[in-house]
Amino acid sequence: MAQDLMEKIVSLCKRRGLIFQSSDIYGGLSNTWDYGPYGVELKNNVKRAWWQSNVYERNDMFGMDAAILMHPKVWEASGHVENFFDLKSDCKNCKKRFKAADLKDKLVCPECKGELTEARPFNLMFKTHQGPVADDASLIYLRPETAQGIFVNFSNLLDSRHPKLPFGMAQIGKAFRNEITPGNFTFRTREFEQMEIEYFVKPADADKYYEYWVELRHNWYLGLGLKKENLRKRPHAKDELAHYARACTDIEYNFPIGWSELEGIANRADFDLKQHAQFSGKDLQYFDDAAKERFFPFIIEPSGGVDRAVLAFLTDAYHEEKVKKDTRVVLKLHKDLAPVKAAVFPLLKNRPEIVELAKKIAADLKKSFVTTYDDTGAIGKLYRRQDEVGTLYCVTIDVQSLEDKQVTVRDRDTMLQERIGIDKLKDYLLGKLKGCS
Ligand code: ATP
Repeated sequence: MAQDLMEKIVSLCKRRGLIFQSSDIYGGLSNTWDYGPYGVELKNNVKRAWWQSNVYERNDMFGMDAAILMHPKVWEASGHVENFFDLKSDCKNCKKRFKAADLKDKLVCPECKGELTEARPFNLMFKTHQGPVADDASLIYLRPETAQGIFVNFSNLLDSRHPKLPFGMAQIGKAFRNEITPGNFTFRTREFEQMEIEYFVKPADADKYYEYWVELRHNWYLGLGLKKENLRKRPHAKDELAHYARACTDIEYNFPIGWSELEGIANRADFDLKQHAQFSGKDLQYFDDAAKERFFPFIIEPSGGVDRAVLAFLTDAYHEEKVKKDTRVVLKLHKDLAPVKAAVFPLLKNRPEIVELAKKIAADLKKSFVTTYDDTGAIGKLYRRQDEVGTLYCVTIDVQSLEDKQVTVRDRDTMLQERIGIDKLKDYLLGKLKGCS
C-alpha cells in the first residue's frame, strides 16, 4: 500500500509537471530530481511560508544567504573533515554499495548473497578544486549543511546589527552529501535544500528555548495542514546524540516509506562558536552589556529539509475520491502551498468572444495571485488536471457569462460551484485567499 502510494506520487509528479527525473533524455541521473513548473511553485511556497513565520513575523531573527563554497578550514573546525563519515560495504559480486548501519548481516550482500567487503569509512562531503590547478592547496568542498555559513557570519551580524540575546539567523540553501544509499524519490538525495535556523541564547536559557523550538517547528507543519496523526516528535536517546549535542529531537513524518526524519532540532551548546574561535583565531564571544561579561552563547538549531517537507506535504495532500463512477485524484494542499490559486477556462473554445473574455479575466487575476489559463481540453479534463496539482479555484466562462457578466467558480475541496459577477471576482477570490503568504 505504502509503496503503492509512493509510486502514485512519483507518477503524478511527472505527469503533471511537479517533479521530473534529472537529465531524463540521457537516461536520468539516478536519485537526482528537477522541479517542474508546478513543483517550483510548491517548493517556493514552502520556503516562503518558512521565511514568513521564522523571519518576517519575528523581531529577533535575521535572514542571510551564504555562499555554497567556503574556506576549507571551516570544515576542519566543524568536525566534518574528521567525523562526517558513514561506513560502507561493497558487494564483491554485484558491486552494489551499502551503508553498514543498514546491514543486518555484515558479511553477505542482501541483494545477491555475494561476499561483502569489510566496512570502510566514506566521507560524505563532495570535493572539488578551486581555480585551474587541481592540487591539495586548491581543495574545496560543496557545503554538506548550510549551518556553517551562519556560524562564520556570527561576528559580522554582531558588528552590523548589534542584536541582543536571544536572537537567530535563518537561511535557506543548497547542501550536498555524497550519500551512500540515496533513494525514495526526493527523501534522500545527494543535492538538496535545507532551511536552517541558528538561535543564539544565554547558556542558562538553552533548555527552555530548545523546548520552545521543538514545539514551534512541530506546530508549523500542523499549521500548514499536515495531519496530526502523521507527525510525531522523537527525542534522541543519549547514545544517539552527536558528540557536541546536549539534546536533539527529530520531527518525523509518516512517509510512504515509514516514519522518518523531516527536521531535527538540536541543542548544540557552545560547540560551534568555540570551534570557529579556535580555528580562526577570532574572538566570537558575545558581550553582555548589562552583566558586563563575555561568553559563548549556546545554540539551538532547527534544521529541516525543503525537499522532504515538499514530499511530506505532497503525501499528506494526496487524496483519491469516488465521484460517481470515477476516481478523482486531488492534492488538498494548504492554500499557502497550492502552486496555483486559480485556473480560468473558456467553456467553448470555438467561441472567440468567450476565449477573449476568459483570457482577459485570467490576465487580471494574474496580477494578484498565481493564475493559469487553459483551453486545451474539455471541461471535465481541465478540472481533473487542476485537481491533480491542487489548484484552489477553477473559474469557467460560458455563453451565459457574455450576457449576465457572471462566471462559475468551483471550489477544489467541496467541488461546489457558485456564480460570481466578473466585477466582483477578484475581490471574491482575494477574500478566500486572505492571509496567504
Ligand atoms: P538522516 O538521518 O535522514 O540522514 P540527518 O540527521 O543527517 O538526516 P541533518 O544533518 O540533521 O540530517 O539535516 C537536517 C535536515 O536536512 C534533515 O532533517 C533532512 O530534512 C534534510 N536532509 C539531510 N540529508 C538529506 C538528504 N540526503 N536528502 C534530502 N534531505 C536531507
